[in-house]
Amino acid sequence: MDIWINLNGKFVKKKEAKISIFDHGLLYGDGVFEGIRSYRGRIFCLDEHVKRLYSSAHFIMLKPPLSLEEMKKEIILTVRKNQLQDAYIRVVVTRGEGDLGLDPEKCPRASYFIIADKIELYPSEIYERGLELVTVSTRRNPTFSLDPQVKSLNYLNNILAKIQGKKAGCIEAIMLNQEGWVLECTGDNIFIVENGTLVTPPTFVGVLDGITRDVVMKLAKQLGIPCSEEVFSCYRLYNADECFLTGTAAEIVPVVKIDDREIGSGKPGEITERIKKEFQKVTRKGTPVYETGKG
Ligand code: PMP
Repeated sequence: MDIWINLNGKFVKKKEAKISIFDHGLLYGDGVFEGIRSYRGRIFCLDEHVKRLYSSAHFIMLKPPLSLEEMKKEIILTVRKNQLQDAYIRVVVTRGEGDLGLDPEKCPRASYFIIADKIELYPSEIYERGLELVTVSTRRNPTFSLDPQVKSLNYLNNILAKIQGKKAGCIEAIMLNQEGWVLECTGDNIFIVENGTLVTPPTFVGVLDGITRDVVMKLAKQLGIPCSEEVFSCYRLYNADECFLTGTAAEIVPVVKIDDREIGSGKPGEITERIKKEFQKVTRKGTPVYETGKG
């Protein structure tokens, strides 16, 4: 079935959804994006995602061609147009068409597009058996170069780490910062469990302030599971009782082996499973796609 793409506010078929080869999003990765999920016809954490998109855009001095509220409406309309219940939504704002130089001032109008399609997760056995990871030598971009808080179209840092991970036989890879502290994976945040406490790296060390990460920290609080943001090394990672990843696309993924060391029992942990269950419950509370608004 063909899908409808929202290209600058107009619905076009996938084949007709085209942007200029002079768009700086393509020429230089000059743009920002978000990945959002809808569950059973409800968009999960819509406000948080759109806010982060606009914060990323603000940081790179890119003005989206519509307001934050208008963008939310366009996202809802796009899911509705494609009659989707469970969707992965990609929202992209690019600098727009310019000349061959870097100068963004030569790009008079930013562009945006929204894709709502079926979800793509890791294979289901990963969620049951757990994931094996490696740490890679590609360091995460330092905050003082390109702040990892900015979800820019420039994901080469993460792609290089992904390539390294895959060459080592793993589908995700753990990235460290320049000092060797554990940061995050190429597209997911990381948590460890130590003596019943959740620990995740603080955002100031250079990790994306993940929306799923935030939801998990709130859920932990509700469940009475202590959670702290701490800088930690591979030593603590290898010796943790449990480990899991969080991300919009991946949700909650148990990790059972890192750099050939078993984590805890080598099976998905008890606290990880509790968090996973609670997370599934909370995803039902998103913004309804089919009950409000025009379209
Ligand atoms: N880290 C990176 C580098 C990511 O790209 C993502 C996915 N957006 C995440 C973490 C997880 O963030 P979220 O829970 O907001 O999807």
